[in-house]
Amino acid sequence: MPLKKRIQRIGLPPDHNRRDVRRVGLNRMFKKILIANRGEIACRVMRTARRLGIATVAVYSEADQDALHVLLADESVPIGPAPAAASYLSIDNIVGACRDTGAQAVHPGYGFLAENAAFVDRLANAGIVFIGPPAAAIRAMGDKIASKLLAEKAGVNTIPGHADVIQDPIHAVAVARKIGYPVMLKASAGGGGRGIRVARDDDQCADGFVRATGEASGSFGDERVFIEKYIGRPRHIEIQVMADAHGNVIHLGERECSLQRRHQKVIEEAPSPFLSDETRQAMGRQAVALAAAVGYQSAGTVEFIVDQDQNFYFLEMNTRLQVEHPVTEMVTGIDLVEWMIRIAAGEPLPISQADVRTSGWAIEARVYAEDPFRNFLPSAGRLVRYLPPPETEGMRVDTGVYEGSEVSIHYDPMIAKLITHGTSREQAVARMRDALNRFYIRGVTHNISFLAALVEHTGFRSGRIHTSTIAEDYPDGFNPADMAHDDPALLIAVVASIHRRYMDRAAGIIGQMPGYERKVHDDWVVLMGGAQHTVHVSPVEGGHDVTYEDETFQVRSAWQFGEPLFIGTVNGNPVCIQVERHNLNYRLYHCGSQVDVRVFTPRAAELAASMPAKPPPDTSKSLLSPMPGMLSQLKVRVGDVVKSGQDLAVVEAMKMENVLRAESDGRVEKILVAEGDTLAVDQTIMEFE
Ligand code: ADP
Ligand code: ADP
Ligand code: MG
Repeated sequence: MPLKKRIQRIGLPPDHNRRDVRRVGLNRMFKKILIANRGEIACRVMRTARRLGIATVAVYSEADQDALHVLLADESVPIGPAPAAASYLSIDNIVGACRDTGAQAVHPGYGFLAENAAFVDRLANAGIVFIGPPAAAIRAMGDKIASKLLAEKAGVNTIPGHADVIQDPIHAVAVARKIGYPVMLKASAGGGGRGIRVARDDDQCADGFVRATGEASGSFGDERVFIEKYIGRPRHIEIQVMADAHGNVIHLGERECSLQRRHQKVIEEAPSPFLSDETRQAMGRQAVALAAAVGYQSAGTVEFIVDQDQNFYFLEMNTRLQVEHPVTEMVTGIDLVEWMIRIAAGEPLPISQADVRTSGWAIEARVYAEDPFRNFLPSAGRLVRYLPPPETEGMRVDTGVYEGSEVSIHYDPMIAKLITHGTSREQAVARMRDALNRFYIRGVTHNISFLAALVEHTGFRSGRIHTSTIAEDYPDGFNPADMAHDDPALLIAVVASIHRRYMDRAAGIIGQMPGYERKVHDDWVVLMGGAQHTVHVSPVEGGHDVTYEDETFQVRSAWQFGEPLFIGTVNGNPVCIQVERHNLNYRLYHCGSQVDVRVFTPRAAELAASMPAKPPPDTSKSLLSPMPGMLSQLKVRVGDVVKSGQDLAVVEAMKMENVLRAESDGRVEKILVAEGDTLAVDQTIMEFE
């Protein structure tokens, strides 16, 4: 597909049942805005700006010259080298880009400068409008200790704790004992799930204090840490607020974000399957009170944790558009970015609290370039194939990349968000399952199988989840065993039909000698999961009837050779299975599972069964780089004797240091790389004797 057309398809979704906003002060509406961000959120903001007839300016680093947000914008300005500190975080360069292009306002997206009050001040000095809250509100809420005190004053429930800086490990232990274990140590300047530690006893508390302090000063340049009660197995439920410059504050209901991995959200939904209407209203009232107390304007989110008895406690307020804002848009029909822009232009909120209505259910899944089988280490590389699902009814894709894009190690590894909507939660879940089955990504390792497994998770299906669900149910991380398909017969039937199509085509090849044509048989043996499955495949109109273990599967599809997605029906039920063919092997991807299959004639199957199995290569004698990155440190030398668990090397990727440790005792025989080298995934770093 030509690039332009592909971008149109990705960039311009159908409008959701959006209510039109009263157009007040249209003459003050911006003519041109700059989006100080990259990736999916920059593209998403441009979508709305374009619909409102506002010209858009993109900014980009040297790593992003060909990025989707640059292609979608009306104008674009380079702002520096790849590292964010030199480009997307450079206030000078971004204010300069506004001046050069005449942009009247800036939307910051999330991350980068979105919650940077100094940036807002600088824009104001340059006469440029910030599409977000006032600097004072950002300052008041940017610090977790200060915001907690402020929330208390505004009558908001807060988590019992010590809302003050902890001085040293001894102080930490004294405070923790007073609060009562377990406790949580938190960086006051923290964000993105970092700088958080749970402590269950004195030792963990003293140790956690030292670690949290170090992490906080490293990540946020601010080492202040405080302590609060750890609420066991809570839910994370947050309230979307909206406030204008005329003193109106409303909320747009809640989002449930309890499915988290390491305090970071993975799947979100609206409404929450847990809240009673009474709790929902009480939380909404407190969120509005807090926003009003800080003189808030624009979109903001008040995060709460909620215990099993629906007691709720304030966590923090995020003074920006949230990653998961689309689920609120899908259930309210409101375009939050449009409201942010209109509010920044001085327009009042178009509706009052009583007019806020929600309909149906929405779910969001975050698609990351990361490897779920390697402890979710970020991955990078070129998107050789990238086919997001089509944006049909109830399905929205917010994407920041296109086929051929490079996923860089410099930024957040999120590549897209899938958002589905349905009249019921079941329908929204079913659409998400379908969206994940259709999302075809090759070239970069991604987390779709993990997301698909979560969608099938019984706790999630019944709405019984809490913030530790993933940690408890995947204690050893995500493993191939977690990908078992719950209906292997379906895969067997489909692969039999696919194989039959190949064989029929091969048999139809012209130029065969009369009387010696290849005949295609109806009986086949499917080798899957180490077992042989005998099937009978009869051609019928539009597909095959496949008989397996006395059951007949009616497989129907218009699938053509080489198409990556097998879309059709089995016994009348829609299916979408991703198919790859490697020589004699088929690899199928469906509902989070990945299965390698072969199909034999009965005679070939007999022979195959007597072939010895090939043992997998022995990788225990070498240390491989688990991800693309830079070797920042070698901790051993040739000849060193190492013990299991000992640190061997440090690989830096995505601004994170990953320590690689010995898996067993041994002696270093050879080191194949040097500090400072760039490593590819699976590149050998060292070998052992
Ligand atoms: P949300 O609550 O919107 O889901 P996340 O916690 O996932 O927000 O963060 C959204 C983005 O903002 C992520 O890219 C995260 O890394 C970044 N982010 C959030 N807070 C901070 C912070 N204090 N410093 C740096 N980056 C942050
Ligand atoms: P961040 O700024 O990194 O988003 P938050 O304060 O919002 O930090 O906390 C992130 C997550 O950590 C929450 O969503 C929740 O899962 C967990 N969490 C935070 N505070 C507590 C607490 N006191 N008890 C239990 N879990 C907590
Ligand atoms: Mg948070």
